[in-house]
Amino acid sequence: MKPHCVFDDLVGQERIAGFLRRTIEDGTAAHAYLFFGPPGSGKKSAAKALACALLCDDGGCGSCPACRRIKSDAHPDVRIVEPEGVTYIVEQVRDQFIPDVWLKPIEGERKVYIFDRADAFNDSSANAFLKTLEEPPPAVYFILLATVYDKVLPTIASRCQAVRFAALPPSVAIGVLAEKAGAGREEATAALAASGGVVPRALEFLRSPARRAVRERLIGVLRDLPVMDAADVLAAARELLSLVKAPLDEVKGRQEAELRERVEFLGKTAGSLKPLEERHKRELNAKEREGVGEILNVTESWLRDALAAAEGIAELIGNSDVADEVAEAGRCAGPVAVTEAIRAVSEARKRISYNVSPQLAVEVMLFDIQEALTCPR
Ligand SMILES: [Zn+2]
Repeated sequence: MKPHCVFDDLVGQERIAGFLRRTIEDGTAAHAYLFFGPPGSGKKSAAKALACALLCDDGGCGSCPACRRIKSDAHPDVRIVEPEGVTYIVEQVRDQFIPDVWLKPIEGERKVYIFDRADAFNDSSANAFLKTLEEPPPAVYFILLATVYDKVLPTIASRCQAVRFAALPPSVAIGVLAEKAGAGREEATAALAASGGVVPRALEFLRSPARRAVRERLIGVLRDLPVMDAADVLAAARELLSLVKAPLDEVKGRQEAELRERVEFLGKTAGSLKPLEERHKRELNAKEREGVGEILNVTESWLRDALAAAEGIAELIGNSDVADEVAEAGRCAGPVAVTEAIRAVSEARKRISYNVSPQLAVEVMLFDIQEALTCPR
């Protein structure tokens, strides 16, 4: 029997797993990849698997200390690179990133940089990156991630080997959640809806009582919206945002434990803890963004269910634990009103991406949905 390999864990992406495995076995891995595909298609998991395969002594066993640390974003030679703002700015690339690329690996033979948003380069930051992207030091590998190929600047995309990821069919995703978290169909569907179809996030959702509490409260708010007054709506938005912060305590607890472990075992001075602390800060910000994203995802999935009911196709309802109330809301408001309400969610998403405060964006969204859904009785 073949030993376990990280590529075996890429559920639903067997073709890509096979391709990446062969490039490792043949020693033909490219120095720059562009993984592109919709959210939830497993790009980041595949990027981490490839990083494991490149750095692990056993070609990516998935269980040695190096592989485990790569999977939890804690390996010093595997960096997740994110834009500091909306785009990568030239200073970030020229003054921080490129000098770092030319440093020797800290622990092993190789270094891997995973760019979370390859579509966030502008012309000048891309220009600063091109030469290094084309001819990196021999030990360095770049994996760029993007949802849409055409949104990546051609100068960047043309220097990478492109690998297309297809969306994971819901039945496959539900199967993974059943296997890994013992989730039933109803639970798994709700977790996927809350997590925008991203399986690792859905797994976290299933394991986090605090995040499930956010969904429960939000669904109550959506149900009651038509009879709430303005003060109720504002209070609900405030409560939801504070509930989103609660799961961050779970993350903070884990981070503090990691920091203590680092200090105990390595006896490192405060200076050398800085990269870890910075990673923790980035992780907290990302988790908070994800939490707010979850409010929007749950709202959208609830409204899409209401739309299905309004159009008389109630068998498509995904939030089956609240099927009756969502169907009632949809039938009462009608398809045109529900479509209007769904538009309010897209608007909220856009506002947040333009740095409007999440609190304000959620308040405006709830008022807009309320206006759309209030039944003309
Ligand atoms: Zn390993």
